[in-house]
Amino acid sequence: MTASIFSRIVARELPADIVLENDRFIAFRDIAPKAPVHILVVPKTEEYANVTELATGDADLLAELVTTAQAVADEHMDGQYRLVFNTGERAGQTVFHVHAHVLGGGLEEGSLA
Ligand code: 5GP
Repeated sequence: MTASIFSRIVARELPADIVLENDRFIAFRDIAPKAPVHILVVPKTEEYANVTELATGDADLLAELVTTAQAVADEHMDGQYRLVFNTGERAGQTVFHVHAHVLGGGLEEGSLA
């Protein structure tokens, strides 16, 4: 199986602006930001393609993903953020290695995108 783009970032085969890393997660700035601050939080395992697979396969890891997103937001977005999981190609998912988009730093009021 070919490693996902995000596993290649974990392996340092691709460059990224990494803001947090521990044994279970890596977080780095999105290459094409959709908000003033846009960080991806990614479990290092690529076993789960999307958030539903993660929820059913390892609920504790999903909970930890959320608290990791909060930690990233506390450091980079005054603790206020939008958390997005695209699920499926027609919803805009392009990387099938589960990841949370953490968006903040001044979002338009009422906007969902
Ligand atoms: P998705 O569309 O699957 O929900 O999100 C994938 C995200 O990964 C996109 O926002 C895209 O800009 C970002 N992305 C894709 N390739 C790279 C890369 O090589 N480096 C970084 N930092 N982000 C990437």
